Amino acid sequence: MKEFPVQRAAVLKEKPDPATLVFGKTFTDHMFVMDYTAGQGWHDGRIVPYGPIELEPSAMVFHYAQEVFEGLKAYRAPDGGVQLFRPTENVKRINSSCERMCIPPLPEEDALAAIEQLVRVEADWVPSAPGTSLYIRPFIIATTPSLGVHAAHNYIFCIITCPVGAYYAEGINPVKIYVESEDVRAVKGGTGYTKCGGNYAASIRAGERAEENGYAQVLWLDGVHRKYIEEVGSMNVMFQIGDTVVTPMLTGSVLPGITRKSCIELMQSWGLKVEERLITAQELFDAGKDGSLKEAWGTGTAAVISPIGEMGWEDKHVVVNGGKIGPLAQRLYDTLTGIQWGTQPDPHNWVVKL
Ligand SMILES: *Cc1c(COP(=O)(O)O)cnc(C)c1O
Repeated sequence: MKEFPVQRAAVLKEKPDPATLVFGKTFTDHMFVMDYTAGQGWHDGRIVPYGPIELEPSAMVFHYAQEVFEGLKAYRAPDGGVQLFRPTENVKRINSSCERMCIPPLPEEDALAAIEQLVRVEADWVPSAPGTSLYIRPFIIATTPSLGVHAAHNYIFCIITCPVGAYYAEGINPVKIYVESEDVRAVKGGTGYTKCGGNYAASIRAGERAEENGYAQVLWLDGVHRKYIEEVGSMNVMFQIGDTVVTPMLTGSVLPGITRKSCIELMQSWGLKVEERLITAQELFDAGKDGSLKEAWGTGTAAVISPIGEMGWEDKHVVVNGGKIGPLAQRLYDTLTGIQWGTQPDPHNWVVKL
């Protein structure tokens, strides 16, 4: 596998106490950087000390948001080793995002080698307290200094990493979510299936409104009919209705989550019935009312599984499983985290040991 040159930081930072870590605020000593120049392709991949990037104010990313990113984690296994969870899926997904945003794709092997080598360089930063991990944030930005609306000719692929504390330090408490009827996150034909910053910018207002009203997350409806459930906050969403698990199908405005895919594969291997299809908010709230809605949860790399305890929609209100985590969400959480942290067997070969 490719080895990139490493320029070591002269002074290493002090490692933080994992008990007080706030997500995404502490960064490690090094980062990976690779340049793209039209005509030359991706070149000069390197690991350098973490620090500011100098860009012209006219760099295209600042104006037209030509940008994509990824999110994955490195985990400390009981034997002291460090491991990744399905990193090839992240590499494929960043390239799918690139294709939509007219960003030249990364050579897959180089992108994977970059993630692996950076985590090896920063291995001391992978915390070992239960539930903690090293969050990895690869991203690409358009750097060409130009105000013309075109694809840029220059890009930077960068990877930064940050140690993160246990998501559920205080136990798994189900969240309250609110169906957003006004703002939409994405529409078919847009960029909903990509991880691009613009999707997040468009989602902030609804998130703030939900928080002001005492809800933790937004339940997003599709942008065309304002009828079908798409995602919850920045997670995919699943519901157990009767003995079937239903999750929104990937229509183009839903992000193809790796946790979503892993949950579907696990549940199918357990012999459960899983349907990827359209689900209306009406169907969901009807199921809540007649008692057939057994469980609801979000899925994503940060929380793994985030149970939903209450749902609001206009004047309607539903409590799910008495506001507590249900047995299926708990089983998915235990199995996935067991595989990720290496405390359980990995029958699907999802883990990459470094
Ligand atoms: C990243 C993301 C997810 C979850 O994807 P994972 O690969 O499971 O982390 C879901 N929805 C949105 C909008 C996302 O950006």
